[in-house]
Amino acid sequence: MLTLPVYLDNHATTRVDPRVLEAMLPYFTTVYGNAASISHKFGWDAAEAVDRGREQVAALIGAESREIIVTSGSTESNNLALKGALPHLKRKGNHLVTAATEHKAVLDPLKRLAREGWDLTIVDSDSHGFVSVDAIAAALTDRTILVSVMAANNEVGTLNPIGEIGRLCHERGILFHTDATQAVGKVPLNVVDDSIDLLSLSAHKFYGPKGIGALYVRRRDPQVRLTPLFDGGGHERGFRSGTLAVPLVVGMGVAAELAMNEREEEAARLLALRERLHTGIAQRVSGIQLNGHPTLRLPANLNLSFAYVDGEALMMAMRDVAVSSGSACTAADPEPSHVLLAMGVDEDMARASLRFGLGRFTTTEEIDFTIKVVADAVAKLRPLSAAWNSNL
Ligand SMILES: *Cc1c(COP(=O)(O)O)cnc(C)c1O
Repeated sequence: MLTLPVYLDNHATTRVDPRVLEAMLPYFTTVYGNAASISHKFGWDAAEAVDRGREQVAALIGAESREIIVTSGSTESNNLALKGALPHLKRKGNHLVTAATEHKAVLDPLKRLAREGWDLTIVDSDSHGFVSVDAIAAALTDRTILVSVMAANNEVGTLNPIGEIGRLCHERGILFHTDATQAVGKVPLNVVDDSIDLLSLSAHKFYGPKGIGALYVRRRDPQVRLTPLFDGGGHERGFRSGTLAVPLVVGMGVAAELAMNEREEEAARLLALRERLHTGIAQRVSGIQLNGHPTLRLPANLNLSFAYVDGEALMMAMRDVAVSSGSACTAADPEPSHVLLAMGVDEDMARASLRFGLGRFTTTEEIDFTIKVVADAVAKLRPLSAAWNSNL
């Protein structure tokens, strides 16, 4: 039986895996100590659970557990990485490099730093949203101290060559940060092989709870130094003060372990479902355009523009399927997706885009239902478009 609405917005957030929730529950009611309490069993048990969670997260990205700083999520991790690293790099230079397709949680902190006097270069992607190592190399100067490029794009799913960019940065003695929020647990990722110095992740993007994440901070070659965003009890080796949310750390750890064990099989299943969705829509709807890279993309991402249809109107016409649109006319941001615009997608096609994010709990039945809903909605809306009619 199909339960409506169908959830295809897994890039925004994912449902907590029941196995994750199960593991978390005792840490609310039984093992509820403060992990920083060193004088009794409540504290020791909590600290042990945190250690395990940290190890599970570290294992997922090829790090050591003491290189994992627990945060509230990727927004905080990005801010801590970018704002925290700079004071220690000042004497080497003042130039920062990022890409136009980054999430606002990277672009906005960097733009604030630029207003404060740091020199920022925002590199263009290609038309697939791909940020090449050559584009990054061309932006580097003798004054460059930090490069930040995301591992996988949250809108169009494009995978960037972060290993190549990481190695380039290391050769030049430049710190490399990656916002890997969409990539962690979805595609292979290894901080050693990919020469990553700082990596941001968020548990709720891989079937863990919301409000918890981590920043990987390299300890050797080079040892990355950071100034904390807030001071206090000196938790997380002084990088991030504040009492740890033990149940959330436990959940993030179990989610990481599940992702590690099940990633390959899950990716293959979701890739097949994604292709089924794409082909199914393409067979029934004309005038569609794939946004993002045709092959170098997250297995569970499909981003399509529907010519002569407004994405917002399309979403309204398919209320039984939860997706998101590049038209994104929110009060805060009336512009269409900055990612699609940076890729050179024209404004109308950006407004006509839908992002389908499949996930662990997506079924074949839901995909087949979605194909029908999309085809019906487009068929209903297009005759209302003057441009479509004059195009006939
Ligand atoms: C979701 C997301 C973030 C923000 O994560 P929060 O958990 O909301 O802090 C940052 N970057 C990317 C690429 C994301 O997809």
